[in-house]
Amino acid sequence: MHPYFATLKQWLRSVVHDNGAVQGEATMETMRRFRIFAGFTLLVNMGYVAKLGFFTGSQGSLPHVRWASAIGWAHGTMALAMAVLGLLIHRFCQSHVRASPQALVLQTLFACTALAFAVALSVIDQMVTTNTTNFATICLLVGMLSLMRPTWALAMFVGTYLVFFQALALTQRDPELLALARSHGLSAVLMSFVASTVMWHQYASAVLLRREIVRGNRALACKQSELEYLATHDALTGLYNRREFMRLAEMELVRSARLPSDTCVLMVDLDFFKKINDRYGHPAGDEVLQQVAAMLKNGVRASDVIARMGGEEFIVLLPSTDCEGALAVAEKLRCVVREKPLQVQGFAIQVTASIGVSGLKKSQRASIDGLYATADQALYVAKQSGRDRVEYLALEPMGIPMSLAD
Ligand code: GH3
Ligand code: MG
Ligand code: MG
Repeated sequence: MHPYFATLKQWLRSVVHDNGAVQGEATMETMRRFRIFAGFTLLVNMGYVAKLGFFTGSQGSLPHVRWASAIGWAHGTMALAMAVLGLLIHRFCQSHVRASPQALVLQTLFACTALAFAVALSVIDQMVTTNTTNFATICLLVGMLSLMRPTWALAMFVGTYLVFFQALALTQRDPELLALARSHGLSAVLMSFVASTVMWHQYASAVLLRREIVRGNRALACKQSELEYLATHDALTGLYNRREFMRLAEMELVRSARLPSDTCVLMVDLDFFKKINDRYGHPAGDEVLQQVAAMLKNGVRASDVIARMGGEEFIVLLPSTDCEGALAVAEKLRCVVREKPLQVQGFAIQVTASIGVSGLKKSQRASIDGLYATADQALYVAKQSGRDRVEYLALEPMGIPMSLAD
């Protein structure tokens, strides 16, 4: 097919698929345009009324005087219509963000009023001239300003032309001039319809593209927060992962360095967890880890930072907590874990945990690595001393745990 016909076919298809889904936004945009259009038209109408009112009362031939009087009346009526419709549209725009059926009625009413005015001017003009420029100009303005689905625009312009065709005969008696004026009117509505269709499709494409971009951005933001979650949390238990814990803990130490309070760390390790895996299977072991993670999380404050360091090992940072407080929390967590057997996949699994505690006195400075290493050594002591127990090691100024230095 010749490219010209291919383009024409594509355009005709786009007229049929008229993107009605964007009508709401299009109507609101049209309302905003009509609000401005109403203001300008009102000024023009009043100018005409002032000028022609003066002219009517003075000189001129009879047809001219009658023409001036009719034009004056037409502009006067249009001024009134513009004032009322402009006010209604203004109030609608101020109180609504989205279009409604009421907005669509207003849009159609406004467009039809402007087109009726165009027909009236042309019919009156035929008293003194064959000119239909007013009709063409107003039709084109309505076609370009009013964002309408092509099928509606087609109906509106066909209707307008039918009225124009009939009404023109009221004032144009010369058959040849009448035919000429009608043919001018036909090209005017045709051009206006094409302009209206082009405007509509440009606007619809822009709205659809904007929606696509918004959708894409939303999906991207969702993916980004999903990735952020995966990068900072442990997939099995939902607790923070090791890297995020280290980052948060480092920040907490910097913050607490300015406060007159201690900071403690607990290392929690399940006892003989390998045996649980061996006996009940890895999936059951996973579920034990999930249940223990939930118990530990519920056992500490929301301001404490809890993470899974890996395997069956958890870590808790207790800001603004001294050594006695940390030991009490550790003891509470140990008891919570061993309190009753966990119900996992039909088995009752008894779990115990060993906990190593270390702390930073308010006067001390250390990195989280030092604190973690000391708590881990305390945990080692707990394991060596028989498991299911809590052990404490103080952090030495040089980072060497006190009891190990002996
Ligand atoms: P201890 O009392 O000395 O801590 O002994 P343990 O058996 O708990 O410690 P060990 O380090 O010997 O074994 C830890 C086990 O944890 C081995 C490993 O298979 C298991 N494990 C590590 N990560 C996971 C996990 O994500 N899911 C399950 N089910 N098991 C895990
Ligand atoms: Mg263990
Ligand atoms: Mg371990």
